Amino acid sequence: MMLPAEVGGLALGPRTFAAVVATLAEADASVAMVYLMHMGAAATIAAARPSVAVEPTLREIAAGRHLSTLAFSEAGSRSHFWAPVSRARRNAAGVHITAKKSWVTSAGHAQSYVVSSLAPDGTGPTDSTLYLVPTGARGLSVAGPWDGLGLRANASAPIALEDCEVTPSCQLTEDGAGFQTMLQVVLPLFNLGTAAVALGLCRAAIAATAAHLKSARFEHLGQSLGESLPTLRAQLATMQIDTDGLSARIDDVIDHLERPRETTMLRVLESKAAAGDAAISVTSAAMRACGGAAFSKHMIVERLFRDAHAGAVMAPTGDVLREFIARAVLEMPLF
Ligand SMILES: Cc1cc2nc3c(=O)[nH]c(=O)nc-3n(C[C@H](O)[C@H](O)[C@H](O)COP(=O)(O)OP(=O)(O)OC[C@H]3O[C@@H](n4cnc5c(N)ncnc54)[C@H](O)[C@@H]3O)c2cc1C
Repeated sequence: MMLPAEVGGLALGPRTFAAVVATLAEADASVAMVYLMHMGAAATIAAARPSVAVEPTLREIAAGRHLSTLAFSEAGSRSHFWAPVSRARRNAAGVHITAKKSWVTSAGHAQSYVVSSLAPDGTGPTDSTLYLVPTGARGLSVAGPWDGLGLRANASAPIALEDCEVTPSCQLTEDGAGFQTMLQVVLPLFNLGTAAVALGLCRAAIAATAAHLKSARFEHLGQSLGESLPTLRAQLATMQIDTDGLSARIDDVIDHLERPRETTMLRVLESKAAAGDAAISVTSAAMRACGGAAFSKHMIVERLFRDAHAGAVMAPTGDVLREFIARAVLEMPLF
């Protein structure tokens, strides 16, 4: 959708991207997250250094035949994905990577992985390089099952790279330039996309709650739940207010991405933090408003509630974003 026309893409922008991700998430947040990770990987591949021949991969992606994903988080540095603890070793053929990637969406299903690792000669904790590792590469394996509370269909299993050889033709960034690509290419798309996933979840929670309040009845009173209880109407109203607030915030961050300015990075950081809170709050209200019917899995609300808890713990986590936002406001260095 966002790849350039020269490789068969539609060259569409963040507005369409966010609308598509929110629509997918309204139906199934796992699918939306698989797509979002793919889009982050595709953008990173498209931004590869000029000497790397990524065009065949981009053409496969544009044709819908190649699913990719991001393998950044490591067991050693946990949610601090910007600081991998693995380090690539260089030899005559390229580099060898040994790394424990703790969660990788679409693990075992993707055709390729965008993998981070410290540059062979990097000196600082963020001197990483990004590589494109095809599935089937020797030494690459899915290292365990995925059994999350929510997003149960997105296969976010760990993967292991064991002395995995990567040729120079698959080195996407210059040595040590991975961190800049994470910040400039991946972060805006990922934060916007995660906010859009939250919006889809909120919309689905409102639709399910409204349908329940209209259809479930107190037969002894001759009224639906919605007709009978002002408290439930007030909860539904709060859900709607929070959801429309999130929608407006997403429009605002899209505007900032379309016309970058001084406040763009701040808005990008804020969008994911605020969206994570909104999704948890709206789906929690839906659980309460729909009572035992929601708790007993008679409706989709409990899945929305479980899925909604992923956004805040996916890196950059809501806590880390708050730390960055406050540091930016206080004019302190972010890293
Ligand atoms: C469904 C799902 C899909 C995922 N998919 C991918 C993927 O495709 N690719 C990928 O690379 N990763 C992926 N991840 C990993 C994700 O991005 C995080 O790295 C992971 O969730 C971090 O969990 P942790 O237990 O290691 O957190 P920890 O780092 O142990 O954090 C624990 C708590 O401490 C807080 N905390 C940590 N650092 C700070 C700080 N500096 N200031 C304040 N609070 C802090 C956190 O907010 C959190 O509440 C996925 C995770 C999930 C749940």
